[in-house]
Amino acid sequence: MVQKNLIDGEWIAGSEAFRNINPSDTNDVVGEYARASAEDARAAIAAAKAAFPAWSRSGILERHAILRKTADEILARKDELGKLLSREEGKTLAEGIGETVRAGQIFDFFAGECLRLAGEVLPSARPNIGVEITREPVGVVGIITPWNFPIAIPAWKIAPALCYGNTVVFKPAELVPGSSWAIVDILNRAGLPKGVLNLVMGKGSVVGQAMLDSPDIHAITFTGSTGTGKRVALASVEHNRKYQLEMGGKNPFVVLDDADLAVAVEAAVNSAFFSTGQRCTASSRLIVTEGIHDRFVAAMGERMKGLVVDDALKAGTQIGPVVDESQLNQDTDYIAIGRQEGAKLAFGGELLKRDTPGFYLQPALFTEATNAMRISREEIFGPVASVIRVKDYDEALTVANDTPFGLSSGIATTSLKYATHFKRNAEAGMVMVNLPTAGVDFHVPFGGRKSSSHGSREQGRYAAEFYTTVKTAYTLA
Ligand code: NDP
Repeated sequence: MVQKNLIDGEWIAGSEAFRNINPSDTNDVVGEYARASAEDARAAIAAAKAAFPAWSRSGILERHAILRKTADEILARKDELGKLLSREEGKTLAEGIGETVRAGQIFDFFAGECLRLAGEVLPSARPNIGVEITREPVGVVGIITPWNFPIAIPAWKIAPALCYGNTVVFKPAELVPGSSWAIVDILNRAGLPKGVLNLVMGKGSVVGQAMLDSPDIHAITFTGSTGTGKRVALASVEHNRKYQLEMGGKNPFVVLDDADLAVAVEAAVNSAFFSTGQRCTASSRLIVTEGIHDRFVAAMGERMKGLVVDDALKAGTQIGPVVDESQLNQDTDYIAIGRQEGAKLAFGGELLKRDTPGFYLQPALFTEATNAMRISREEIFGPVASVIRVKDYDEALTVANDTPFGLSSGIATTSLKYATHFKRNAEAGMVMVNLPTAGVDFHVPFGGRKSSSHGSREQGRYAAEFYTTVKTAYTLA
């Protein structure tokens, strides 16, 4: 059965369909999904536009009930949805279920936020005049999401968009339509009026582009590559619309001489290789001071030998496959580039064979890397990390900040002085002390600086900045 697109409250098959393939076993077809056309995208935008006046004035209890019901169903079905996610994306079952729980928590959080929308009342600078400051929805929000967090990223964009009274046109990555279809189905059954949330699965170059080209989308929130992010930005400037971009990272993880070695290695392995290194918050630059360097590299090698790379759904798997062939080629190309540049491949990097045909890669660790090499400057987005040796903390901080990106930054140290200094001086949106650079809470701001992000933060109460517009009203008493 082909899973359809949702346009104006109707499930629409369209003229084409595509297959969702399991990266752990390419013989396994997860499902077939309708491929929307540019015409479908325009119909979805028109539906969202028509639904906006009523939805933007809907009562907060209606929105609260729908988001709450959605959270409850996602959490009740976490094992089944987590399995679907792991089957289509390749992260381990524990990671898939964990991400699904996070999506449920996000809907729960924004169900609460519907009831807490507040403004301000101030005296005017002029006598006998009152000033009210309120937040209103922006209008039709376009949501474009990547493949690496198939349920959490859609959740952290759709939940606040609906909470604050916007209508939505949602385009998930074509590689992972299953999780997105499932949450749209849940939201639809939870009672959303027709046209409020529209799903258009399909190609970015067709469906995504039709969204970028439409004057009727008032805000676009995007997560994905820097290249596509720039297209979103240019088109948004053209249409004078609000936009928010979450793009890549080249996140540093600093290890100082005084670090607890076990804590440092655990955080580095998690940062670099869990979720197959396919997290924008993953760390691919391990910046290590010389007093601990050799012990750290030896301990990393030992730890990496024990990593179980296998089918995402198999019990005991710690690292699933790479998401698809093209990403696998990107990863192995960068491994070849690292060697050509003169870094030493100290561990891993080989393609692996398992019981089923899939995109299996042994996590790779380079040593003797410099921060000038391409493997240290460009986002690889796979289980590939480099160790960069530095003299001391000052050099470590300089190297950590010497990157076009600024999403997440981590340090392993037992020194309060260095931890405090690093938190203040790391040029990143998120800083981690003795913790992996990836793995964040659902109720606090998420986002970065420099080429990693543009616009206001996602998640938590800070999401209101993007999904609302502020009105200042003056009244003569
Ligand atoms: P993309 O930026 O191409 O994809 C992200 C989303 O944008 C997808 O839904 C995609 O659709 C859509 N899209 C593609 N082209 C357009 C367009 N012209 N107009 C509007 N939307 C469009 O990233 P990829 O999935 O190709 O991944 C490539 C690289 O990007 C990765 O190797 C990694 O380096 C980086 N990346 C970073 C992520 C992050 O979280 N920071 C997440 C994912 C990738 P579709 O895929 O369906 O065609």
